[in-house]
Amino acid sequence: MSFYDVLIVGAGHAGAQAAISLRQAGFEGSVAMIGDEKDPPYERPPLSKEYFAGEKTFERILIRPADFWQERKIDLLLGKRVTNVDAAAKTVTADGQLISYDKLIWCTGGSPRMLTCNGADAPNVHAVRRRDDVDAMMGQLDTIQHVTIVGGGYIGLEAAAVLTKFGKKVVLLEALDRVLARVAGEELSRFYEEEHRAHGVDLRTGARMDCIEVVDGRACAVLMADGERIETDIVIVGIGINPETGPLIAAGAAGGNGVDVDEYCRTSLPDIYAVGDCAAHANRFAGGAHMRVESVQNANDQAKTAVAHIMGKEEPYTAVPWFWSNQYDLKLQTVGLSVGFDQAVLRGDPKERSFSVIYLKGGKVIALDCVNAVKDYVQGRAHVLSGAVLDLDQAGDAGVPLKEVGIG
Ligand SMILES: Cc1cc2nc3c(=O)[nH]c(=O)nc-3n(C[C@H](O)[C@H](O)[C@H](O)COP(=O)(O)OP(=O)(O)OC[C@H]3O[C@@H](n4cnc5c(N)ncnc54)[C@H](O)[C@@H]3O)c2cc1C
Repeated sequence: MSFYDVLIVGAGHAGAQAAISLRQAGFEGSVAMIGDEKDPPYERPPLSKEYFAGEKTFERILIRPADFWQERKIDLLLGKRVTNVDAAAKTVTADGQLISYDKLIWCTGGSPRMLTCNGADAPNVHAVRRRDDVDAMMGQLDTIQHVTIVGGGYIGLEAAAVLTKFGKKVVLLEALDRVLARVAGEELSRFYEEEHRAHGVDLRTGARMDCIEVVDGRACAVLMADGERIETDIVIVGIGINPETGPLIAAGAAGGNGVDVDEYCRTSLPDIYAVGDCAAHANRFAGGAHMRVESVQNANDQAKTAVAHIMGKEEPYTAVPWFWSNQYDLKLQTVGLSVGFDQAVLRGDPKERSFSVIYLKGGKVIALDCVNAVKDYVQGRAHVLSGAVLDLDQAGDAGVPLKEVGIG
């Protein structure tokens, strides 16, 4: 049985950062990262952006060059899936192999939620989570014309932007009454809906699909609840993820929607940390609400917190959340978490395709969404950090730099 001082499960953003941070902190013990994908850690965001668009090769989205891991004595155990954790014996089972550890960092992200209707398992119904998903779609692009995207979150919208660039006919189906409903205010949703329609996307909100029609083993149409038949060559599903926590929860870790962790990313099991998309934590920027955050920032910063704790430093996780999304020539940058906002102030004119939305709760700034407005993003960060109470007339005036907006 092999033994590692630190065993990392999941070779994605959080896993890679944990390994990198251990060596940066001077950790000299043995480290291994087990991942069920065949590739060394790579950046996931380009899968719906530059990689999908053919603007970046796979080598360019690797988190570190392939030889980095060997040089740092980090064992990559790839193509192996952990199916069991024994917290008392301090072992995991991966593809029948027993591996023991002193500390375990669980960084398994999530698996895409898929449709459950008839036809959802056809081979041309795709998720966008892994390199393999995107490679499978890219391999078909020359032969397809009609694409149906289910889900108007960031991934679905980004995929729509790439596919229209390739001249594909895209129908985007969102079940709620606006896109991005779970992550942004109405102003931003309406702006992106208009942008996509202007680029030729047949974007439908309040869309009720019934099932997928399959002929000769392939999805060929999406059937709507009202009887409409939307012909399609492939279906892309972007309706969120389920955290990959099965073996940890089975081992007794507390959790529900994610594994529960404390401010040092410790789970309820001894010497087991959880980090990234799979970790439910109390986020300071959501008023301490217990939640999972799905972003590169969260994966990286939580990994650093867990490693600091392993290295004997108690540095609670308090990093300010940030996120980005690229669609067409629009760069959205968000800072803070807008969940639970009770007021939104628009800054600038969406028609100019450069504006920001400032989200407030109880009069305090909690988040900003900035579209082609880098200065607002940079300057707004301080307001989110301090929970600033701003003069809202000034805040809504794009002529006044955010850093100069007075206190309300
Ligand atoms: C298409 C796409 C676009 C995105 N765009 C953005 C963006 O623009 N900005 C942003 O901030 N975030 C974006 N995200 C989210 C971001 O990529 C995630 O938040 C981030 O990858 C989370 O890192 P993680 O390490 O927690 O999970 P992942 O990066 O998903 O890594 C988890 C790894 O663990 C593996 N694994 C799971 N279970 C097991 C097991 N039992 N045994 C072994 N291995 C296992 C998984 O296969 C995976 O390789 C995007 C995500 C996707 C899919």
